[in-house]
Amino acid sequence: MDIKDITFSYDRKTDRLHAINAVIEPGRITTIIGPNGCGKSTLLSVMSNNATPRLGQVILDGKEIARYKPKELARQLAVVHQQNEAPSDLTVEKLVSFGRLPHKNMFTARREEDEQAVEWAIACTNLEERRTRTLDQLSGGERQRVWIAMALAQRTPILFLDEPTTYLDMYYQLEILELIRQLNQEHGLTIVMVLHDINQAIRYSDVMIAMKEGRIITNGPPAEVVTSDMIQAVYGVEVVVRHDAEAGMYLIPIGVGASADSSIRLQAQGV
Ligand code: ADP
Ligand code: MG
Repeated sequence: MDIKDITFSYDRKTDRLHAINAVIEPGRITTIIGPNGCGKSTLLSVMSNNATPRLGQVILDGKEIARYKPKELARQLAVVHQQNEAPSDLTVEKLVSFGRLPHKNMFTARREEDEQAVEWAIACTNLEERRTRTLDQLSGGERQRVWIAMALAQRTPILFLDEPTTYLDMYYQLEILELIRQLNQEHGLTIVMVLHDINQAIRYSDVMIAMKEGRIITNGPPAEVVTSDMIQAVYGVEVVVRHDAEAGMYLIPIGVGASADSSIRLQAQGV
């Protein structure tokens, strides 16, 4: 997927994305990071044709996504949104089966294929024993797996996930991230996700895109992208970057506000 010079505004006054360029590499995990309100969800919306850019285009398999028919695009790309809502009296099974809608039309009944896709999605997300429960009978982690299962039932090669770990405890966060990695490695899905935890992003991504105020500040492999300078520039947070034999690269936030450089300057001025 090619993101070319995307400029976007909700109101035609204030641009929320400014001439964004990026290439999403097939078969890899790309993670978008950046402060609240910097445009991560907006970019995912443009990339999934849920929002129309003011300028620029998104190209998928040689064709602008705006030119895809809705169902045609829905067979290529599934989205797990940041906030999901559904009537709480629907069962897991029923919700997951909604993922099949893009594959249905008035004339063909592809029941077997539909059933297989739903079964596969339920198995991948380890929801077999929850299939007849309704949403309000599930834990937060299980509910998130239902949304992922619904997207998986679409059987698309590309999966977008907007903050899939938010509101989950550490165990469920890792469970979701391990599932995402498995979908990438075993099933070859191209993943684009938004994460807030930089250490998790380092650990689970092939490529990271750091955004600030509607612009891409830097992108590339985590080892190249994540530096204390980048974190300072993007988040205004001072961090130290460490390497551990077992955990690999990780960072520790140590403060907000004045950067190391400016505190040196303050010291020089005797403040
Ligand atoms: P992020 O996902 O990085 O937290 P968003 O993409 O949601 O950020 O938002 C980027 C900017 O666009 C913010 O300033 C936000 O207030 C604004 N915005 C988001 N959604 C809408 C909307 N539906 N209408 C108008 N402005 C919006
Ligand atoms: Mg968001």
